[in-house]
Amino acid sequence: MYRAPVEEIAFTLKHVAGLKDALEEGRFGDLSEDLVDAILAEAGRFSSEEIAPLYKAGDQQGAVLKDGAVTTPPGWKELYRHWIEGGWNGLTGPVEYGGQGLPMMLAVAALEMWNSGAMAFAIGPTLTMGAIEALEKHATEELKATYLAKLVSGEWMGTMNLTEPQAGSDLAALRTRAERAGDGTYRIFGQKIFITYGEHDFTDNIVHLVLARLPDAPAGTRGISLFLVPKFLVNEDGSLGRRNDAFCASIEHKLGIHGSPTCTMIYGDGFVRGEEKGAVGWLIGEENRGLACMFTMMNNARLAVGMQGVAVAEAAFQKALAYAQERRQGRAEGDAGKEMSPIVLHPDVKRMLLTMQALTHAARSISYACAHALDMAKVAGDAKHWQERAALLTPIAKAFSTDVGVDVASLGVQVHGGMGYIEETGAASLLRDARIAPIYEGTNGIQAIDLVTRKLPLSGGDQVKGYIAELRAGIEALRSSNLPGLGRSTDRLAAAVEDLEMATGFLGRALAEGRTQEALAGATPYLRLFALAAGGAYLARAAVAANGGKRAALCRFYAENLVSETSALKDRVIEGAESLAAAEFA
Ligand SMILES: Cc1cc2nc3c(=O)[nH]c(=O)nc-3n(C[C@H](O)[C@H](O)[C@H](O)COP(=O)(O)OP(=O)(O)OC[C@H]3O[C@@H](n4cnc5c(N)ncnc54)[C@H](O)[C@@H]3O)c2cc1C
Repeated sequence: MYRAPVEEIAFTLKHVAGLKDALEEGRFGDLSEDLVDAILAEAGRFSSEEIAPLYKAGDQQGAVLKDGAVTTPPGWKELYRHWIEGGWNGLTGPVEYGGQGLPMMLAVAALEMWNSGAMAFAIGPTLTMGAIEALEKHATEELKATYLAKLVSGEWMGTMNLTEPQAGSDLAALRTRAERAGDGTYRIFGQKIFITYGEHDFTDNIVHLVLARLPDAPAGTRGISLFLVPKFLVNEDGSLGRRNDAFCASIEHKLGIHGSPTCTMIYGDGFVRGEEKGAVGWLIGEENRGLACMFTMMNNARLAVGMQGVAVAEAAFQKALAYAQERRQGRAEGDAGKEMSPIVLHPDVKRMLLTMQALTHAARSISYACAHALDMAKVAGDAKHWQERAALLTPIAKAFSTDVGVDVASLGVQVHGGMGYIEETGAASLLRDARIAPIYEGTNGIQAIDLVTRKLPLSGGDQVKGYIAELRAGIEALRSSNLPGLGRSTDRLAAAVEDLEMATGFLGRALAEGRTQEALAGATPYLRLFALAAGGAYLARAAVAANGGKRAALCRFYAENLVSETSALKDRVIEGAESLAAAEFA
């Protein structure tokens, strides 16, 4: 069973991602290290003792739709209640609406642990957190007064409605219609698919944030508006009024995260008898500027989905390590015991386990560093720099961490041998869960395109240059630490950063010279190259902060066994486009 790695998480937050410095500089008021530790310990306890034991029920029984109502797996409704009673929903929520206003770094750390417990459970509140942020930034005071406190407390949950059958990655194709009702409200008509927690029994009301198009809107993404569409309308005194014309028509049967209902939502189909047609909606932000508002929610959600990758990877690693220490096969060299050896003693199994651990640490560090940048953008003087840093790291945190989630969960199955393929060990279900994260919240292919075309050009390329210089400085700090047992770590990590620099320079030139197709062809290998180089620098930082020991050994393993992949990735970025363009399907 999963045990939250609270100490590891606290170490990474403080010594790798920058929380300790920020606390010492007083960036977060009177938040102290002790309080951080206490919050992490309790979030970890909740995950290990309350969420993880209900994982299996979620996977095996899943969410069920009957007569338009969705029932979540046995025990999950009560779990949600405990969770909101613990005040967890409002961790980063605005203080004026009952939230605790804590840094994003704490939220992502807690999210990691909750997702390790059961990703299908934690995804629901994640969407509510995104909805809170979008409303806080873009909604009218009236909407905030009606909805925010209840979303912050968790009494109501939020959803995010973008996808339609013909509009997935390409939201310009969106067709859901919004009409002005003449009284300041709107009527929404259309179908949304794949809506996570679109219907459920956790809360009495559900607050849908829905992208739709006004009749006179310009074509494409510039003609999309964002609306708040509650399941139940809200009376002036805050009580629930009539049912809105927003219904779940079906839920999906899917590979993993079975506990999370994935709903087809129908807006304005006239299901509410005796009322005028159309789901009643309220505009968020300005007409035709909805995508920008939704991006507030999506950026937050992208990092949160990255945390799902880290979370599943951690859970898979723990499970595989425990199995490898118990399972005996063959005789490992040097094992003095008389029986067969635990498989963890075989070099190939140890290699798999260390790969799992090192990739998980790298993805965690990058994701926490992204959260740190988001926090600094709010509290530091140089907001633009930190906003850009967060923007640069968001696609990497999302795509690399979720790829790591799949890779590590797959290795976890391999460590278990045949038992990994059998459902009862739980290794297989982690792999099934992990597989969605590279797809939703913008596929990893779309993240790579975002990184190359929108993030590399930030501040004329200076943001990425500055970041690469920081990575290099971290590796040089490892070199000058003279820690024992580092082998060729510093040279290997420094070579990876050089690969990153060369590939970045190539892509910058390709974009400047209008060779966009060439740049796009290399986007995915570039993102992985970027993440591997950055992950190495963070592992180096951890080794220095811990003054050697296990962290230095893990850093060395990563440097000498994993990071050299950057050289091949750089070649793919620089030389791969021509053969890609030339190849044809027979
Ligand atoms: C379990 C689950 C939960 C979900 N939850 C939600 C939710 O709560 N709310 C919501 O709105 N949506 C949700 N989604 C939808 C999800 O966000 C989309 O599936 C995702 O954005 C991809 O869109 P698509 O499925 O239409 O794939 P497509 O857009 O058809 O993509 C197919 C492939 O083509 C690639 N591709 C597409 N366009 C390009 C391009 N321009 N350049 C390069 N490659 C490209 C993609 O990377 C992908 O590999 C969920 C989906 C699932 C399965």
